[in-house]
Amino acid sequence: MALIVQKYGGTSVGNAERIRNVARRIAHFHRDGHQLVVVVSAMAGETNRLISLAHELSPNPNPRELDVVAASGEQVTIGLLAIALCDMGLKARSYTGGQVPVLTDNAFTKARILQIDEQRMREDLADGAVVIVAGFQGVDADGNITTLGRGGSDTSGVALAAALQADECQIYTDVDGVYTADPRIVPQARRLERITFEEMLELASQGSKVLQIRSVEFAGKYKVNLRVLSSFDDPESTPKGTLITFEEEDDMEQAIISGIAFNRDEAKISLMGVEDRPGIAYSIVGPVAEANIDVDMIVQNIGASGHTDFSFTVHRNEYQKALSVLAQSKDKHFKAREIIGDDKICKVSVVGIGMRSHVGLAARMFKALADVGINIQMISTSEIKIAVVIDEKYLELAVRELHKTFELETAQQPG
Ligand code: ADP
Ligand code: ASP
Ligand code: MG
Repeated sequence: MALIVQKYGGTSVGNAERIRNVARRIAHFHRDGHQLVVVVSAMAGETNRLISLAHELSPNPNPRELDVVAASGEQVTIGLLAIALCDMGLKARSYTGGQVPVLTDNAFTKARILQIDEQRMREDLADGAVVIVAGFQGVDADGNITTLGRGGSDTSGVALAAALQADECQIYTDVDGVYTADPRIVPQARRLERITFEEMLELASQGSKVLQIRSVEFAGKYKVNLRVLSSFDDPESTPKGTLITFEEEDDMEQAIISGIAFNRDEAKISLMGVEDRPGIAYSIVGPVAEANIDVDMIVQNIGASGHTDFSFTVHRNEYQKALSVLAQSKDKHFKAREIIGDDKICKVSVVGIGMRSHVGLAARMFKALADVGINIQMISTSEIKIAVVIDEKYLELAVRELHKTFELETAQQPG
């Protein structure tokens, strides 16, 4: 008997029939003697619908109230799934994040989980019940409803698995695992049997939405056994999916590049003609960080005649806010000839632990992009990643071209 946490995403619970299908899978595991805690997302499209309703009433919805609205989608699905399970004769009990409770900080719309009380869930499990928990949400110390950022149900699932010390956390979605690239963009993409935690973390942080980055961070911190699987397979079958591993195995060293990620949610801001002096980066980025805006890629040119250009990217949702923070701090904290922005960019990254032992990969990537006439605007590298910022209109072309260049449609041989 194992304690398993299963998480089902929006498409997997997108209508009554799919919810019944999820219930069948849960019943199958329950019949095999496993204890189950199930985390569900809102029905497909529901969170978008709720958020746009709020935006119809205000261009800048109050964050506390926005979370009250956004969290409601998950409350519907936990109830529906519990109803389906009860109808099949199983004991099932649903809980919102606040009922568990999943305690978070008070950063509305992007709260972080601080603590999970497992007491109530353990009692239900001991009683033979299936526990169903609303993903994406928690409650702060003052009892306010919070949400964990888009895609946050993955994080709820992994965090619950960590708190319960579950034997496995299964993330069921609309693809049957982690692929070498988003299969919606690259039909030739290949499912990976396994991927190292480090690579998964990098893919997620570079924009691969199959797992929310914080869920991968949690899995790493608490060594949660994590698997990505399809919810559309036969509920009686045991699909394989992709296993996230914590150790590099011999055969894994063969993969030089494991995958390609992209992110179309970023925007670029450039400050032209800023002074080239100690402290300039801090005086630009400091106020942006204080406004709780995450800065991603940063590039500063070598200065000439005492001046330099400084560019960085932020999430597109925070682009206008970042521009106004800079407008306020310009002349107060730094001087700049001009501040220009571009929210029609995207980031494309190649990721692989094999990069550590192979040279020339950046050149190969840049050549592939040059060959199809794509201009690179920014570059950033780490030990296991090369990322470029390009015009968003070239996103699909770039991802497909790189997939081909690195021969990801076939299992790679050591290079
Ligand atoms: P869910 O609603 O189940 O959380 P998501 O839409 O958040 O599902 O994540 C699954 C989607 O992630 C897939 O449909 C796929 O388009 C996308 N995706 C992006 N990159 C990858 C990848 N490398 N492998 C698999 N899926 C990916
Ligand atoms: N429903 C939330 C969203 O759409 C959380 C999730 O699906 O993971 O972002
Ligand atoms: Mg998701």
